[in-house]
Amino acid sequence: MPRTGRRLNDDFLLEEIRRVAAQPDVSPLTCIKFAQLSGRASVSVVRMRFGSWKKALAKAGVVHLYSGLPAAEKMKTARGKDLSSSDLIEEMRRIHAVVGSPRLRSPDFNRHSTIATSLAIRSRFGTWVKALKVAGLLPVREKAPRLPTKEEAFENLIAVWIYLGRLPEREDLSAPPSTITAEFYELQWGSCRQALRKLNAWVHAVHYRDTLEPSSDLSRTAKRIGRERWLFGPRLQFQVAQRDGFRCAACGRGPATHPGTRLTMHQLKPVVGASLPPTSHLQTLCEDCKLS
Ligand SMILES: [Zn+2]
Repeated sequence: MPRTGRRLNDDFLLEEIRRVAAQPDVSPLTCIKFAQLSGRASVSVVRMRFGSWKKALAKAGVVHLYSGLPAAEKMKTARGKDLSSSDLIEEMRRIHAVVGSPRLRSPDFNRHSTIATSLAIRSRFGTWVKALKVAGLLPVREKAPRLPTKEEAFENLIAVWIYLGRLPEREDLSAPPSTITAEFYELQWGSCRQALRKLNAWVHAVHYRDTLEPSSDLSRTAKRIGRERWLFGPRLQFQVAQRDGFRCAACGRGPATHPGTRLTMHQLKPVVGASLPPTSHLQTLCEDCKLS
């Protein structure tokens, strides 16, 4: 019996629906989406031929892509709703292996699964993503490392500068005691040189109280300094070290001339009755001199 034109056309239309249905991100397959994706068959012809859009999808075997159903009725079309959760998970893993893409998407699942639909998965696990999580198919995204703040970046430069007793070079930032890479400074300020220039401005922009209250009682001063943490902060330490030429005020040694020398900040006994800037109460000492 020769094939009639009409028969051929039905097959062609159904084949075209299946072809469009197999494309990624097609669920739900509305007639508008079909019209955009097909270009070979018109929606009105499909509707006329099969009675309705839903019937056409059903005839093509892709009714699970139909979106026009009320939720309750939709569930009935969810193949696999009678399967156990572990069966559904197994099916997801199987199809994930078949598809081979890093993340299993529901259209891919619907295209490849013969026993369940993404609708059944969703109604079982709440959302597609939750199901992926249960199936162990959701890659655990590693938290991006927290970037240093501007203050931390500057304090790192100060630590390196005092440690070396000289202006740090780019290479110095890739070795201890630096904890922040040169790349970070380049990203933030364009170059390490530029970062060092900004550091200088940052150090000297700090507004310390002009004077420390003169006091003969060192412990009271220490308490006061403890209360005002900024007083012993890296910026003040840098100001003092810079003033002292990054050398020990007692023996004159510094890391630049005597590698291995560690510089620390030392508090002097405040001069009674004097009104002096906070740096005047502080001096740079090497560890040896500070201990002796
Ligand atoms: Zn010394």
